[in-house]
Amino acid sequence: MLEKLSNVLKRTTDKIANAVFLDKNLVDQIIKDLQRALIEADVNVSLVLQITKKIKQSALDERIEGLEKKEHIIKLLNEELLALLGEKREIELQKNNTFMLVGLYGSGKTTSSIKIAQYYAKRGHKVASIGLDVHRPAASEQLEQLGKKINISIFTNKKEKNPEKIYKSFKKDLEKYDLVLVDTAGRDALDKDLIDEIKSLNELIKPSEVLLVMPADIGQSAKNQAQKFKEALNITGVIITRMDSTAKAGGALTACAEVKAPVIFIGTGEKPSDLETFDPESFLARLLGIGDLKTLMEKIHSVIDKKQIELQQARLEQGKFTMDDMYEQIKNMEKIGSFDKLLDLIPGLGKAKEKISAEELESQQNKTKRWLYVIQSMTKKEKEDPEIIEKQTSRISRIAKGSGTTTREVRELVTQYKLLRNLIKGGKDVDINKMQKGNLGISQKQLRKLAKKFKGKIFH
Ligand code: GDP
Ligand code: MG
Repeated sequence: MLEKLSNVLKRTTDKIANAVFLDKNLVDQIIKDLQRALIEADVNVSLVLQITKKIKQSALDERIEGLEKKEHIIKLLNEELLALLGEKREIELQKNNTFMLVGLYGSGKTTSSIKIAQYYAKRGHKVASIGLDVHRPAASEQLEQLGKKINISIFTNKKEKNPEKIYKSFKKDLEKYDLVLVDTAGRDALDKDLIDEIKSLNELIKPSEVLLVMPADIGQSAKNQAQKFKEALNITGVIITRMDSTAKAGGALTACAEVKAPVIFIGTGEKPSDLETFDPESFLARLLGIGDLKTLMEKIHSVIDKKQIELQQARLEQGKFTMDDMYEQIKNMEKIGSFDKLLDLIPGLGKAKEKISAEELESQQNKTKRWLYVIQSMTKKEKEDPEIIEKQTSRISRIAKGSGTTTREVRELVTQYKLLRNLIKGGKDVDINKMQKGNLGISQKQLRKLAKKFKGKIFH
């Protein structure tokens, strides 16, 4: 579904997240990629320009820096795309609902009416469908056959050519159902005949919902078509069909945004079960790669909790860096997910990542997890002044036992703690030789760089 757009969006967010510097060249390139992808997906051109202009402005705004800028841009992109996708609307059935489906010939009205019938029937409602497409001889037959497949009541009259008469003749029967789907006729184009017919049906039936059925591949003409339907009828929602068979749903989506009618269902195949409710947020998450954006945003947020940064900064300035702080740092890393992701999120460190193998990273993550147990087994005094641990070997074995780790691991943690403390305090007194190889899975130089970057960010 919308694979090309999805790929570009994923690439774009990756590019933003991984960028060392969001310089003008990179921003220009990102904007160009975005514009091309959106236009290729048939999103309305002026809308594309509007979206990208805002993103560009914020990307080049020098008042916003670093992580905040990345967060800002990704947030903006998300917001703009969400606005394009429109509001979420789910139709809860009240008593006696009638949904009238309108749309051009071949847009998927009959198929969709069956899909929706099944959707609500499965949720325990009594559902029927009535065929009012009197222009095509095969229309009633199609509806009957589909109805049989999913076992719902179908009302048709192949001999009658007046749709209003057909409706009136079944009106009493239809009252017994929770939901009646009205399948209407379409035309090749939106002409006066069609408008008159659906208008008068609308007056007679007074449906609770008028649903416009639009195929996803309709292209840029969607906007005009949707607007005309909206002028004639009060369109309460849109069904976009054939989402499975096109990479260009942008036209249909733009149209919905423009006429302010929410997409309620999307059709994703020919079978009655190929129907999904439309949730703009999860649709977008899927476009961007499942959950990507949300988790990325959460990660960025967990990094820049300003209050916490200020608090810890103040502590550090007073020369305080205890095992409790160390614990918090390790926890913060876990929040971010992995060391790997962490490096991505910190400007300038994406490159460092390339030099670290995946196994090294994983072993480092396991190691830090065990360090948390070690810290949990320390007394308050030990946490405040970890150097006493080294001085008394009985403490080391007690902590190792209590945390289910080894004395070697406890020693490693204390060494690591001292290193970090010194690095964070400005790199004084760092005995590089004491740095045990592999302890952080990265070289001393990288560690130093990392600590510097963390200062005021993660290692506040
Ligand atoms: P109507 O003229 O508006 O009633 O359109 P139909 O319901 O008869 O559908 C026209 C064609 O589109 C049929 O061949 C359907 O099987 C097909 N169709 C409808 N919805 C979808 C969909 O979501 N995906 C795919 N691939 N085909 C669909
Ligand atoms: Mg039909």
